Amino acid sequence: MTGPTAPAAPPAAPAGDVAARATAGFRQRYGAEPAGRWAAPGRVNLIGEHTDYNDGFVLPFALPMRTVVAAAPRDEPRWTVWSELDDEPVEFGPAEADEPGRVPGWAAYVAGVVWALRAAGQPVPGARLAVASDVPVGSGLSSSAAIESAVLAALVDLGDLDLPAERWPRLAQRAENGYVGAPTGIMDQSAVIRGRAGHALFLDCRTEQVDQIPFDLDAAGLAVLVVDSRAPHRHADGEYASRRRSCEEAARILGVPALRDIDPAGLDAALAKLPDDETRRRVRHVVTEDQRVLDTVALLRANRVREIGPLLTASHASMRDDFEITVPEIDTAVEAALAAGAHGARMTGGGFGGCVLALVDASAADAVAAAVTAAYAERGFAAPATRTVRPAGGASRLA
Ligand code: ADP
Ligand code: MG
Repeated sequence: MTGPTAPAAPPAAPAGDVAARATAGFRQRYGAEPAGRWAAPGRVNLIGEHTDYNDGFVLPFALPMRTVVAAAPRDEPRWTVWSELDDEPVEFGPAEADEPGRVPGWAAYVAGVVWALRAAGQPVPGARLAVASDVPVGSGLSSSAAIESAVLAALVDLGDLDLPAERWPRLAQRAENGYVGAPTGIMDQSAVIRGRAGHALFLDCRTEQVDQIPFDLDAAGLAVLVVDSRAPHRHADGEYASRRRSCEEAARILGVPALRDIDPAGLDAALAKLPDDETRRRVRHVVTEDQRVLDTVALLRANRVREIGPLLTASHASMRDDFEITVPEIDTAVEAALAAGAHGARMTGGGFGGCVLALVDASAADAVAAAVTAAYAERGFAAPATRTVRPAGGASRLA
């Protein structure tokens, strides 16, 4: 990316109504015109789950759904932010921004960006902001990275800050880790900021090196169907922490910095050194999942898009049987999608709820969505939300 006002590629879909809502919200709240509008998308991870904190590989792509921030600078160092998700705007100054936790609730994602920028020595301009979004909130499509990144893009531009886009993901992640207090990796912000239309983003979580991998669904006559499972996130935080601990403990026993360093060819020998079956299965998931990401990247580079299907399905089986992070709603959605002709399907995201993605023929997307909905009804689950998506561009200033 070359900068906030000149994204590497234009967004695949116009932000449309959501941008109009942000502008209307700004006018209504502040009785003035915004100086500009900045957008950042949600993201979905095509493959590579629980590999990030093991220094491994992930392959997310940015979504057409966006969060838009309409904003204007102000003379004093204060920030007022309104979101269509809340009635009342939230206002804070440097004292609140400089102390993580002082601004509570959703506005912490905004204050966190101000905090991260100020902590990096950047002269953050005061601003009024209005936020509208098409990214579903709390579904695992990273509405959090979307709001952080759109606010970051706005503040960088308004303040004419000297901050190359390569540094944005780290700063937005810091906002979420350090101010909001959510222990997330670098994947979400990288995808949301650096995503490119028609591409997935291959990210090495150890080196933070990224590579744009062609993922042109339209040319292949394919679609990605995303199913929001609507499953309640049961014990997700505790389970995440325990998976992470298992992986770190296994790496320690195996004498490697991280599980990424276990060569798949030496997997059996490594597993034999581990004390119990559960730890062995956790390690097997991470090591085989890293390899599936590499295999997916190789197939996409060879333009063999359809053939990634079995890798997606194998990833799901590994999460279900070895890492044990799926739930009945999620497994039902995957099974129904595959039975209805999907080339591959898997849970995406940290687990215990969230979304499923399925690779389908574009012409079959509606039928697969209907089959998943019917399977849900049969099991008595709350109806899922389904949508088809394609890789879109990352954070940018709107015209
Ligand atoms: P996800 O990132 O999967 O959507 P998270 O729990 O990480 O879920 O982040 C969701 C939180 O981010 C919301 O609860 C809210 O605090 C904040 N958020 C996201 N989008 C918006 C928005 N448009 N307006 C206000 N807050 C938002
Ligand atoms: Mg999030």
